Amino acid sequence: MLFGKHINKYYLKYSPILLLGILSLVMVDYIQLIVPELYRTVINGINDGAVVKDGVTVPFDMDFLLDEVCRPLIFVIIAMIFGRFLWRVCFFGSGIRIETSLRNKMFDRCRELDQHYYQRNKVGNLMSLFTNDLETVQDCFGMGIMMFFDALLLGVLSINKMFGMNVWLTAFSLIPMTILLICGFILRKYMTIKWEKRQAAFSSLSDFSQESFAGIAVIKAFVKEAHELIAFRKLNKENENANIEYTKLSVTLTICVTLLVESVICVILGYGGYLVYSGVFDAGQLVEFIGYFNATVWPIMAVSQLIEMNSRGKASLNRIGELLDSNPEVSDKENVVAPEEIKGKIEFKNLTFRYPSGEYDVLDNVSFTIEAGENVGIVGRTGSGKTTIADLILRTYNVPDGTVFIDGYDINSMPIKELRKHAAYVPQDNFLFSDTIAENIAFASDSNDKNKVENSAKLSDVHDNITEFPEGYNTILGERGVTISGGQKQRISIARALMKDAEILILDDSVSAVDVKTEKVILENLKNTRKGKTTILIAHRISTIENMDKLIFIDDGKISDVGTHDELYSRCTDYRNLVELQRLNDLESGM
Ligand code: ADP
Repeated sequence: MLFGKHINKYYLKYSPILLLGILSLVMVDYIQLIVPELYRTVINGINDGAVVKDGVTVPFDMDFLLDEVCRPLIFVIIAMIFGRFLWRVCFFGSGIRIETSLRNKMFDRCRELDQHYYQRNKVGNLMSLFTNDLETVQDCFGMGIMMFFDALLLGVLSINKMFGMNVWLTAFSLIPMTILLICGFILRKYMTIKWEKRQAAFSSLSDFSQESFAGIAVIKAFVKEAHELIAFRKLNKENENANIEYTKLSVTLTICVTLLVESVICVILGYGGYLVYSGVFDAGQLVEFIGYFNATVWPIMAVSQLIEMNSRGKASLNRIGELLDSNPEVSDKENVVAPEEIKGKIEFKNLTFRYPSGEYDVLDNVSFTIEAGENVGIVGRTGSGKTTIADLILRTYNVPDGTVFIDGYDINSMPIKELRKHAAYVPQDNFLFSDTIAENIAFASDSNDKNKVENSAKLSDVHDNITEFPEGYNTILGERGVTISGGQKQRISIARALMKDAEILILDDSVSAVDVKTEKVILENLKNTRKGKTTILIAHRISTIENMDKLIFIDDGKISDVGTHDELYSRCTDYRNLVELQRLNDLESGM
């Protein structure tokens, strides 16, 4: 049986069903022990031609066989089929329900966890938690309860019957069983460790496969197929080794069981044969005793399987527990209050920021103000901290109190959801779902109004491209559908953000893959439609942001200057150098 913080409460929740399962198990176990008694009756009847029934000797004939052997046997078989069906439904059904409930909880927790968690835990590992580990827990729960109670009941009932027949024969038979239990408990600890290692190896393998499939274009472009294959083989070998290590222990346990069970048969035949020879037992009783022992073989096997299963289940439950016990590092502080209205003024005050796993400050004493309704460009070299600023406006990471303000409210004093409700963001590595274009665009908004979707697509200058697809807005993107260009992907992502019509819009290098003409159209549309709302454009191309109301020029995590393009060009040497360098590059590349 599997116990743990995240599973214990289910025993209570499903107690009526589990109880019904246990009752049917008791019934099946009880009546199946009638069978050895019938063996004895038949053997003794064949030997003696008569049987003793309720103290009276009656002839062993066809009528007796039908009435006293076949009819009870049919009843036993029917009751066993019904009982076995019932406990399977009760135990395995509860296991499946628990799996579903745990999966929901895990997904819920994944939704709450912040970016930092996903930087530390790879997708492949998470996927194996949701598949392999959950399946193991489900298996262990249903089978575990069944095996535990079956082994206990059938074991106790048949051993009791065996004791009733002959104490010494039973005691001799139990010695190997005790040895088996001791072996099992010793092996259990090692099996849990080996199973954990096996699951970890499987996670690494699925991590690697997932990354290889996602990055197949890069692998092919750099002709790195052989390199990937070697790396995959290495991981696959490690997975194989981990499997073999676990299987070795599992096989050792099975061999112990078989060996000890066979040795008990030797004991029964040897000592039981002697008892028949010396007249203590008759042949029918020996067969009946063997029948009871046969009934205990399954409980012995079950104990060993239970030990193995429990080791696997515990290891998988531990891994699932790690996910369920992970707390988001970014969460609402106590007593947060949602502002009545957000207009979109953003203020950074002396913010110095370092990523949770970072080794140096990425932003150094950063201060600037973006007024509500302003169009602002954030510009700077790659790695200077532009994306970090966007992430912090959305509170993707924690910031110290009194450093970032929205409409004068410290962002730590308002609910994170409320803050994000008023912002739309097009990240650099934008992502589209394997769904229709229309659904992808409507994703950001509560409405999937066709006109609104088309209008957003027109504003991001992608409407004409979409209508050229045979299925238009119903074209499925991604793995199941068409592949679109980087520029189309960027423009669909912008359309999605525009659907939200939020007070704050942040575009992070979102027009880098579109041509200059299209860029101009999109920027013009943004200017016209977002009047009175804050728009922040992060760009490395000066042409993208030179006409904005204000530019924030950031260099190596520090704000170098804030002003219009002309102001920065005339007074900020670094900015001027950047502009000149880009112009030179553009001339060289013939833009
Ligand atoms: P930009 O957008 O200007 O190119 P970023 O804001 O993305 O720059 O990154 C600024 C610096 O922060 C870089 O040196 C980058 O390596 C580092 N950085 C970005 N994300 C993380 C992270 N999650 N953990 C640690 N360092 C990071």
